[in-house]
Amino acid sequence: MTKENENADMGLAALLGSLGEVTSTEVEDLRRVSYDAMKVSFTPEALVKPTEDPQVGELLRLANEFAIPVTTRGVGSSLTGSAAPIHGGWVLDLSAMNDFSIDEDERVCVAQPGAVVADIQKATEEVGLFYPPDPSSKKFCTIGGNVACNAGGLRCVKYGVTRDYVLALGGFLPTGEKVKWGRATRKFATGYNLRDLWIGSEGTLGVITEVTLRLVPKPAVSRTFLAAFASEEEALQGPFALGRLGIRPSILEFLDQWTVSGVESYTGKTVLEGTSGLPVLLVELDGHPAQVEEDAAKLLQWFSEAAVSHKAAANGEEAEELWEVRRKGSQAMKKLANTKLNEDVVVPLKRQAELVAFVNGLREEHDLRIGTFGHCGDGNLHVNFMYDREDADEAERARIALGELMRKVVELGGAISGEHGIGLAKTEFVRLMFNDAEWKTMQAIKKTLDPNGILNPGKIFEPFRPWEHVPVNVTLPWENEPEECQSSP
Ligand SMILES: Cc1cc2nc3c(=O)[nH]c(=O)nc-3n(C[C@H](O)[C@H](O)[C@H](O)COP(=O)(O)OP(=O)(O)OC[C@H]3O[C@@H](n4cnc5c(N)ncnc54)[C@H](O)[C@@H]3O)c2cc1C
Repeated sequence: MTKENENADMGLAALLGSLGEVTSTEVEDLRRVSYDAMKVSFTPEALVKPTEDPQVGELLRLANEFAIPVTTRGVGSSLTGSAAPIHGGWVLDLSAMNDFSIDEDERVCVAQPGAVVADIQKATEEVGLFYPPDPSSKKFCTIGGNVACNAGGLRCVKYGVTRDYVLALGGFLPTGEKVKWGRATRKFATGYNLRDLWIGSEGTLGVITEVTLRLVPKPAVSRTFLAAFASEEEALQGPFALGRLGIRPSILEFLDQWTVSGVESYTGKTVLEGTSGLPVLLVELDGHPAQVEEDAAKLLQWFSEAAVSHKAAANGEEAEELWEVRRKGSQAMKKLANTKLNEDVVVPLKRQAELVAFVNGLREEHDLRIGTFGHCGDGNLHVNFMYDREDADEAERARIALGELMRKVVELGGAISGEHGIGLAKTEFVRLMFNDAEWKTMQAIKKTLDPNGILNPGKIFEPFRPWEHVPVNVTLPWENEPEECQSSP
């Protein structure tokens, strides 16, 4: 028996002795947590589903002692394999720790990691407050997962990403020692900012068991607009035009020509009458009614000068109609092939038009189905590659085009991920982003906080080849939900 196997056996015996009541080794339970939304599967040896803080500390203490890999998990909606236990070991599922409370006077929410983001938002809005970050997965993803991935969403253009709302994080180091980074205060200038180091570190530096979130006043009203432009370049002037007019939209989304045409074929309707197949901007304004009206007037004036056609929703029902093109973009794409890679690259605002033109070139050059849409107010565009996995030639063309995209993004001064993180999916390209000094610094931080390398090993740093792994054929719980819930980030 190897030393590793011996440790695994002794560790499992110690785990069952200490945390047996919240541990499972049932095949079906292990299978369920062997993958996330990327659907590459690696079976762990145990699933631990704690109900209280000290159990998390105890699990990490044991894992560290016996050098057992631990992969923390919310609900496994990660699109990058970051929650897949690639080195086996134990999966730490925090979805049962899902309480939260709101302090209306302090305007904070204190949540356990498994609290579902939409539940926090609903409760917050019921008391006139607002937690803005809104990943499309909000109905099922957890706040712990959002912090670990620094999740973004549609409203980030005005309100910022998850990081901008985290005041403090409580949890455990990989050694099992309890820590609290930051406090429930609006200001904090005391020591190193290790709270921000945990945010977006994809569960590789610690386990979050308490999140203190800053809340803001709930906007009184919102209005929705859709405009079609003669070209993608003209549509992508939106962020600058709105900036010059002093308008801060709560949502500013772009869909390229190819995606709009795809939605139109899928729904059998034109997106805006008389403008079939033109790129569009979807805009939402929110805030005080007087401010929204003033901004709406300026926006409509700009549309009348710059757009081919536009529409302002007069009520909620009309707003839903304008949203349809954005909500159905991903659905339409999924019908085209059995594989859809959704990249979440981000570039400076001024380089977006160049990026979209480059993607159009990739589509032609490699004869691929590729569509771009997303958060153009942030420079965060989702480039979607659709191909048939079984078609070796098409899959290879998609692989080559993806590499070209990533190199272009870096050349444009951007980042290979603006929302989903690296996980396993993007380890091939992450090195493009950092020089030796930066890479070594990140590795040194990992080594310091996790000396035995037990926490989420294999992620970010170790090269992984997604193309060599056949995804598991499963339907994730939310894939049975109505379309809105599945709509792509
Ligand atoms: C349909 C769909 C739409 C999506 N839309 C968006 C979007 O708009 N924007 C966006 O940013 N993402 C989006 N995502 C991706 C995903 O929902 C987010 O990355 C989300 O933050 C993951 O949360 P989770 O609870 O599922 O975490 P998991 O997938 O379980 O885990 C994700 C990562 O976080 C770590 N982790 C989880 N909990 C903890 C914890 N308590 N402590 C330490 N580490 C932890 C895990 O180890 C893993 O590395 C989407 C996914 C789907 C399937």
